[in-house]
Amino acid sequence: MPFFYLRPMKTALIAIQLKISGLVQGVGFRPFIYRMAVRNQISGWVENNNEGVTIHAEATESQLEQFITDIKKLTPQAASIRKLVQQEVALQYFKDFAIRKSQSYSEDITEVSPDIAVCDACLHDMQSQAHRINYPFINCTNCGPRFTIIKSLPYDRHQTTMAPFVMCRRCASEYKNLLDRRFHAQPVACLHCGPAYQLMDGNLFTDGKILAGLLSSEIKNGKIIALKGLGGFHLLCDAFNEKAVSDLRKRKARDGKPMAVMVKDSTVAQKYFGMSATEKDLLVSWRRPVVLMKNKLPLAFSVSRGLSTTGVMLPYMPLHHQLFELLETDVLVMTSGNISDEPVIIDDQLAFQFLGKIADLVVGYNRAIHNRVDDSVAFVVNEKARLIRRSRSFVPSPVQLAFSAEGVFAAGAELVNTFSIGKGNQAIISQHIGDLKNVETLEFYEESFRRFSALFRFKPKLVACDLHPDYLSTRFAQQLDVKIIEVQHHHAHIASCMAEHGLDEQVIGIALDGTGLGTDGTIWGGEYFICDLSNFERHFFFDPVPLPGGDKVTEQPWRTAFAYLYKYFGLSIFIDENAMKLIPDKNDLPVLMQMVDQGINSPLSSGAGRLFDAVAALTGICRESSFHAEAPMRLEAEIKPECRGKYVFEIQGQQIIFRKLFYQILEDLKSGTSTAEISTKFHNTIVTINLSMARKLREKYGLNKVALSGGSFQNSYLLEHTEKLLQKAGFEVFAHQQVPTNDGGIALGQLAIGAKYLSQNP
Ligand code: ZN
Ligand code: ZN
Ligand code: FE
Repeated sequence: MPFFYLRPMKTALIAIQLKISGLVQGVGFRPFIYRMAVRNQISGWVENNNEGVTIHAEATESQLEQFITDIKKLTPQAASIRKLVQQEVALQYFKDFAIRKSQSYSEDITEVSPDIAVCDACLHDMQSQAHRINYPFINCTNCGPRFTIIKSLPYDRHQTTMAPFVMCRRCASEYKNLLDRRFHAQPVACLHCGPAYQLMDGNLFTDGKILAGLLSSEIKNGKIIALKGLGGFHLLCDAFNEKAVSDLRKRKARDGKPMAVMVKDSTVAQKYFGMSATEKDLLVSWRRPVVLMKNKLPLAFSVSRGLSTTGVMLPYMPLHHQLFELLETDVLVMTSGNISDEPVIIDDQLAFQFLGKIADLVVGYNRAIHNRVDDSVAFVVNEKARLIRRSRSFVPSPVQLAFSAEGVFAAGAELVNTFSIGKGNQAIISQHIGDLKNVETLEFYEESFRRFSALFRFKPKLVACDLHPDYLSTRFAQQLDVKIIEVQHHHAHIASCMAEHGLDEQVIGIALDGTGLGTDGTIWGGEYFICDLSNFERHFFFDPVPLPGGDKVTEQPWRTAFAYLYKYFGLSIFIDENAMKLIPDKNDLPVLMQMVDQGINSPLSSGAGRLFDAVAALTGICRESSFHAEAPMRLEAEIKPECRGKYVFEIQGQQIIFRKLFYQILEDLKSGTSTAEISTKFHNTIVTINLSMARKLREKYGLNKVALSGGSFQNSYLLEHTEKLLQKAGFEVFAHQQVPTNDGGIALGQLAIGAKYLSQNP
């Protein structure tokens, strides 16, 4: 060690190395660093690598200081710096600053960015740049379409659906100029060379303002518009016009499904919805997800049909902004442009043909959408954002794993399917595919698998799928000529939660879910496990009831309520007025009894979703359901948080018995207790069961980490209070944030279990 240290003078050159990690790849970060370097007269280089971005910078100390300040302050919107480590290194006397090509193979993969909402600078350019005045396909290095237009890697214009559009000289010079905001922006375009909106009659619009004028007057007149978005068509109309919204519902045959809305800005969101600070951050983020928020001021009834929340998003394409400039209404219904349960339409010709039957006007544009994505959906509980549909602007960003999952393909489940592929320590999860119940959705699934495999150069070594032999995802997995492992549905749920939190150990797993095949051939879904990524043990579970009619119960929750009452109290209970009200046709009673007694088309289920269904039906809140999980959603909507009561449950062996709970609910109904109070007491009971089971398992096994998963945790009240109560009792609680707690998260869990299997059985 030298006995003195000579500090370099402020004007002397020094060299530093900066290692930046976070979301810094595929988001225009290197050109940004280049511009900051030029601005501060820095020489050296920047390159991507597996950890993020590395910079070698040479300049005076004060220039370097400013350089670092600028990097932190002016970070592009879609980038985020998690860590910046600085280290002095030897001077190499570079003459200029360069973007170095990285040698690492994985670069290409991290280069696929999700789609990014139009940035403020572009919205400004739209008013000031002569060649982009009102141009609705404006974009730059920091914003615009990405994943939706990419066909192949590396990410270059000719490999995207921008290929047919030849850059004009002006755009080309911007594209080539390292100092321009559009340097290497692959979809760069202007009025003269880029895509245009098109109507069915062949009319083209490059002036978004003129088109927005046309659309706004149609919307004002109560018309329904089909408009092509980034990842597919939307159907939209004025969210205050009851006739328009109910027409849209009727024509789309959307039954009761809630519809998302787009609002002009966050001030409007604040006005109509109860918005927390976290919800606002999520809403305004560049990913622009649909955020579920509490209704405050009413929209047209048919938007959410009595549910207490609405899905809300902000404009994310230039035309959305232009539209709200001219619209009289501040809120538009913005629901996906699909036919019944098929994937959202992406093709203009198909839209003209099919959406033309629903909408009064169909507006496409002449650039193809290559990868279909739906809007992503999130909600906030306990001040944490949680995704319940991971699609636009999130896909294909990987989920970081604590271990390698290289070569594992996870096929997912059936409902709200996604699949996942493992690349190194990353899980790349597909966009939301949908319910794998029809040919169209299966085709979308297969096509997406082929595309992901090609894009990410993926070849499966091991396939993980659901235990259910009839899921189309399972069948698809079986066709691949690769070693296959079947993963129990709720084990996958818990493993998914573990994987996203980097857990690789034994935990207490609570899976509250609708449906999933168990290892004993019955349907599971109210599960208390001890598990790790290799094994699970079922310790406690909800008392199984027969479901008369099988799948029919999801549309007719009253059947499940009947099953519980009949199981616990026998036929005599049906002299009870409230119990009798359940059965639409009393003549069916003998048949229902016979089905249950003889086990005819009455599979046993311990699903939490079914218990919620039964309570919703018994209280009259929802006897018939017009969309998936309507009954639990309506039951949740009744909750009065100030109510503290709860019902009694019993434990017999491993089973959690609800006899007393149903008895007490019937008593409450008889005495005229409000459904709000009954619903709240019911929810409090489930929260208490969660705590009680976790405690039992902690006592016995000494485990303190609890992972929560399954579709029922989309219920805000259940998640909020389960988390809080468990934390208060000293548990470390893990719930989903990055991937859905519903079956959209199953693939990640299967992937983690598959990766673990591979590591133990190489
Ligand atoms: Zn931009
Ligand atoms: Zn141009
Ligand atoms: Fe599930």
